[in-house]
Amino acid sequence: MKIICIGKNYADHALEMGGQAPKQPLIFIKPSTALLENGKPFYYPSFSDEIHYEVELVFRFGRPGKSIPTSQVMDYIDAVSVGIDFTARDLQNECKQKGHPWEIAKSFDQSAAVGTWSGISPIEALELSFHLDINGSVVQQGQAKDMIHSVPALVSYTTQRFTVEKGDLLFTGTPAGVGPIRRGDVLQGYLGEENLLITDIK
Ligand code: MG
Repeated sequence: MKIICIGKNYADHALEMGGQAPKQPLIFIKPSTALLENGKPFYYPSFSDEIHYEVELVFRFGRPGKSIPTSQVMDYIDAVSVGIDFTARDLQNECKQKGHPWEIAKSFDQSAAVGTWSGISPIEALELSFHLDINGSVVQQGQAKDMIHSVPALVSYTTQRFTVEKGDLLFTGTPAGVGPIRRGDVLQGYLGEENLLITDIK
């Protein structure tokens, strides 16, 4: 299982990162060992002093696919949830400066928190808002309608390069409002009013 992730897919977040949104989807991949199951704590890693939260809509592939046409993409997706793309921002900034890949900043153990799968269909989720609360206060809110590249466009583009397998996940990018986490924080992710994700920072 792999976790395909999209960077800078909301204009407001691309701006807060100090850059323009890329013309083509910005893709990176996390390994299966990056998965943090819902309800489990996130242990602050020793190699970073600046871990950021990024709440994102997450889609699961229900069957394998390669070069999927945009019109068929939603037939390949069988579940939706929210997730957190935990990012070592200090290391990512170093990688960007050096022109290096992002894996050490993005793909470490527990860096992909995924909520329980929603009762809402993936197609319905495209019309809903999602948000992240920290210690009971909303810190990020977004909706798929504001994505620069839509979910069908992302999947079509991605699967021209990477075959997807049943159970693979797609993180679709984060809206504005990213920021640091601290030990003791409680993070909760919502799709509409449905609370799908919780993790304590230890
Ligand atoms: Mg992200």
